[in-house]
Amino acid sequence: RSKSKGKDTFSFFSKDLQHAMHHRVEMEVKLRNAIENDSLAIYLQPKYNFDDSAVLSAESLVRMFDENGKVIGPDEFIPLAEETGLIHQLGKQVLQKSCEFVARCNELGQDFKVAVNVAAKQLSNPGFAKEVAEIINEAGIAASSIELEVTESALMHDFEQTRDILNDLASLGVTIALDDFGTGYSSLSYLRQFPLNVLKIDRSFVIDMDKEQQAHDIVTAIVHLALSLELTIVAEGIETQSHFAALKALGCHLGQGYFMCRPMAMADFFTKFIDDCQV
Ligand code: C2E
Ligand code: CA
Ligand code: CA
Ligand code: CA
Repeated sequence: RSKSKGKDTFSFFSKDLQHAMHHRVEMEVKLRNAIENDSLAIYLQPKYNFDDSAVLSAESLVRMFDENGKVIGPDEFIPLAEETGLIHQLGKQVLQKSCEFVARCNELGQDFKVAVNVAAKQLSNPGFAKEVAEIINEAGIAASSIELEVTESALMHDFEQTRDILNDLASLGVTIALDDFGTGYSSLSYLRQFPLNVLKIDRSFVIDMDKEQQAHDIVTAIVHLALSLELTIVAEGIETQSHFAALKALGCHLGQGYFMCRPMAMADFFTKFIDDCQV
């Protein structure tokens, strides 16, 4: 083991690290600019009613565009937004745009509900419920037209404060969905202490349910527990006819996935699902 090898290894990692840091700084600049210019976009993915395939709600998914107009997905900048605190401003803009979308639907005489993702860090802001109320009021929509999707880990972070905030939101009339269910460490009985309306079964269980008996059994158990707690069940990541059929047979209420529809730009979604008289 020579000294020079150690040195090479060091400079190899150092270059890698330098590259990663450069990428991170660049991404942070892009994100700051996008927030400042209000140029983040919302894509919407429809939620299908298993009974009759009606679409009365959608999930709001944020997108950023690079200088060439290429889409940058949220996995590339949401963690950064949480670390830098930019998530508060980002989350506010996403909620505003989502509320404006509902307002446009209402103008056409249509009820429509949009589910907005909320990061753990946003729930650590004691003024969060008040901010949500203000944005909803400004848009002039019913609070019941907005659903907030929170994850198990966000709930487990600061039990008391999170429960207080969610209770405030629930009394506004906003509904609360538990996202990515099954990927955290909580039990459903524990979750009963939060005002939850909806449970979203994580894609990782759905993807294997037609191939592995165990995955199918887990989904079955989740559905039965959720039904007994009178929660609405949304299955996400439905990619095949066979996923769709299995989840429908189990009694899930709503389904989302590429099999039915990919997330699409807000304007396109509006034309396809809301204002289908317009060409
Ligand atoms: P999520 O909340 O679990 O959202 C579902 C993700 O699965 C979305 O990815 C969606 O495009 C993707 N998806 C939908 N159907 C299918 C399918 O059939 N197969 C597969 N393989 N994927 C499917 P996306 O848009 O890249 O978002 C990734 C994550 O970023 C979201 O996961 C959410 O945690 C986060 N995110 C997105 N928008 C926001 C936002 O506005 N605020 C916050 N805080 N987080 C967001
Ligand atoms: Ca979600
Ligand atoms: Ca999810
Ligand atoms: Ca997920």
